[in-house]
Amino acid sequence: MLQNESGSQIMKAAVVARAKPTPGSGPLLKVGARGSEVKALQKRLDALGFPNGANDGVFGRNTELAVEKFQRSVKLKPDGIVGKNTWKKLGIHVKVPRPPPIKAGGAWGGSQNVANAAKRIAAAMGIPVTSQKRNLADTRRVGSSTESDHYTGIKTAFAVDFGVSGTRGDQLARAIASKYGIPRGKIGASTGRVIRVGGASYRLQLLWRVAGHFDHVHLGVRRV
Ligand SMILES: [Zn+2]
Repeated sequence: MLQNESGSQIMKAAVVARAKPTPGSGPLLKVGARGSEVKALQKRLDALGFPNGANDGVFGRNTELAVEKFQRSVKLKPDGIVGKNTWKKLGIHVKVPRPPPIKAGGAWGGSQNVANAAKRIAAAMGIPVTSQKRNLADTRRVGSSTESDHYTGIKTAFAVDFGVSGTRGDQLARAIASKYGIPRGKIGASTGRVIRVGGASYRLQLLWRVAGHFDHVHLGVRRV
């Protein structure tokens, strides 16, 4: 069995070498990554003879193992991390889909559409929305305040919570921060950043890894 496996690996490596693929490129991917760029990687590995399971766009242990096998076959350090050198050998060009521009409009003083950009980022990462606007009863039930952007009584604000923790929460918070031009040091800070969209100003608040925000990332948007 072992012999067969190593034998077939050598054959696959030979195929890769003969095909002399054009150098590829793509974003840094490792365990925990999600999205269409992961799916493209999985399909490519599959096509090269390194099946990794479901091709589901989720970089889990199976994908990592397939990456390590591929790396060994092309004489790269088998670290399971897809960086510049591994993309080169994979021979395809993969881009992270760019999220659409931030647009003002929608409900709540136009703040809803401003928040939608973050919702698209989270959706692309497979991270769910766990809360948006809340009525008075729900505001009390979750121990929130009537000053919160979540509260339906605040007519010019919109807030959204994303259920995520750990390093994936870090990834989401950073992606949202960079999308809205929020400096990294302001993630989690209670002071907001004001952005201009479509002729209006919106105050943003990005809460993560501060009291009450270790199991979700909060983005609050308020028209000012
Ligand atoms: Zn929240």
